[in-house]
Amino acid sequence: MYADAFRDTLISKGKSMKKKLVVVGYGGMGGGYHAARALEKGLVELGGIYDTDEKKSELARSRGIFAYPSLEAVCGDETVDLVTVAIPNDSHLPTVLRLLEAGKNVICEKPVALSSADFQKMLGCAEANGRRLFVHQNRRWDVDFLAMKALHDSGEIGRIINIESRIHGSRGIPSDWRGEAKHGGGMLFDWGVHLIDQVLQIYDERLDRVYCTFVHTTNFEVDDGFRLHLYFEGGAEAYIEVGTYNFIALPRFYMQGEKGTALIRDWRENAQVAVCTHWHESEVLPVQNGAGLTKTMAPRDEVTLNCYEAGRPVADVYDFYRNAVDVIDGKAEPLVTNRSVMRVLRVIEAAFESERTGSVVKFEEK
Ligand code: NAD
Repeated sequence: MYADAFRDTLISKGKSMKKKLVVVGYGGMGGGYHAARALEKGLVELGGIYDTDEKKSELARSRGIFAYPSLEAVCGDETVDLVTVAIPNDSHLPTVLRLLEAGKNVICEKPVALSSADFQKMLGCAEANGRRLFVHQNRRWDVDFLAMKALHDSGEIGRIINIESRIHGSRGIPSDWRGEAKHGGGMLFDWGVHLIDQVLQIYDERLDRVYCTFVHTTNFEVDDGFRLHLYFEGGAEAYIEVGTYNFIALPRFYMQGEKGTALIRDWRENAQVAVCTHWHESEVLPVQNGAGLTKTMAPRDEVTLNCYEAGRPVADVYDFYRNAVDVIDGKAEPLVTNRSVMRVLRVIEAAFESERTGSVVKFEEK
């Protein structure tokens, strides 16, 4: 390939052999994150950006970044190894297909596609052209999620029976393309794709049923929030909720095991863990609460619980790019597998069907 020969020339001249990255879409995520990180971390070389909005191109140029005049110009640049696509959700499909056809490796923002069939088309195109397609599920590196996963995996609080994952904001759904159905807007596509992915990464179980309702506080075209229940074959459950009108937020994570409970109030905080050390208490005294008496809901005395704050996991989200580079070089397998991305998209489809039909939808694992 010409690109390989070009790199060989650079190496022989003692120049950089870093992968040359182009970012398509110089908006919030493309400009504020991908291009900025590429420059800051230096793992890849930022070859330029392309944005349909000339003002964004001007902004890039003012920062010393080359702006391609068209997508075709990116496709035609043989020195480009990798392209990150960070544009509105409905534009992912045609853009990713074109880049793959042009022989580029592609990182696509989430949600990679608006249906599993569209994602399948992308995968087929990547395979046909011998190129790699990665999906930026960057919230696999969120430390709150990693803390919950570590507690699940360690067995510290026993078999997990329920996970509640909530994101509560109070600024409403953004007034940009995220509020429009034709662009693949709505909170299920926007945040749901992350939170579903995280829960499926924690539970190592087959999903059985899905139930979802949408919230339409001010936006009646797409969901400005949603409530999603996932039921697993072994009996475990997850509840995922996104709200954009929550002026008092409920905790980020709540996880129940047979032997204990874990709570993360806010994603900047560590997990609070309570592990039951003495289950059988011979003398539980009834307590008065409210206008009644109860033994079932009597609080535990502290000697029967081990309460502590869990340590904060260490994570570097740039491992996503390191891994992409290694996968392209044939040195590693993808950390975010396309199979796992497909499963999340299929859960989203089941959630849409549940919302539309008002029923619990059976999920077929593939
Ligand atoms: P944005 O509106 O801030 O930026 C989008 C940019 O793409 C704009 O500059 C626009 O002019 C440009 N654009 C639109 N259509 C284009 C096309 N066909 N070709 C080239 N440029 C085009 O949007 P955003 O918030 O940056 O979101 C972009 C993508 O990133 C979405 O898929 C979104 O879901 C995703 N995203 C991911 C995360 C994350 O944490 N992984 C966070 C935010 C957004």
